[in-house]
Amino acid sequence: MDLTSYAELAVLLVNLGDEGRNIDVLRGLLDETGRTEAAARLTRRDLDALSELREELTGVFEAASAGDEAEVVERLNGLLVRHPVHPQISGHDGQPWHLHLTEGGRVADTLAVGSVMGLASVVTGLGADRLGMCQATPCRNAYLDTSSNRSRRYCSERCASRANVAAYRARRRGA
Ligand SMILES: [Zn+2]
Ligand SMILES: [Zn+2]
Repeated sequence: MDLTSYAELAVLLVNLGDEGRNIDVLRGLLDETGRTEAAARLTRRDLDALSELREELTGVFEAASAGDEAEVVERLNGLLVRHPVHPQISGHDGQPWHLHLTEGGRVADTLAVGSVMGLASVVTGLGADRLGMCQATPCRNAYLDTSSNRSRRYCSERCASRANVAAYRARRRGA
């Protein structure tokens, strides 16, 4: 069980936005991140639950981006109650015994438990300021800041250079 990869999954889910209502887009995301079993089991019935989860996770990143750590913790604690962990030791595909956070149930439940536990482990292990929202308006993508000096402000290189160009133009106008 790699909780960082689940925290990254939370970021990917948030950043899907309305595209997350498209089952093929979701299935592609799961396939690309090596969650082939979940991709195969995904059904339309998961979509509403995943939309709701996406909104809940967005709220966590927004609170973190606003610097409101108490709100981040309150939201995550609420999510931990709504998506309880039922750990099971599992062995499959030639892998050594490892923990699965939850077994059975819908794909949406598995992804909810994983992403909430992933974010909870980042907040408790590294700090709530590791979660953020892109500062290059109008982009509202989430990101995980794994830089050593906690300097990340943008979701991507593309947004970083866009923001730099905008700042440069603003300086020239002001000069
Ligand atoms: Zn496994
Ligand atoms: Zn961005």
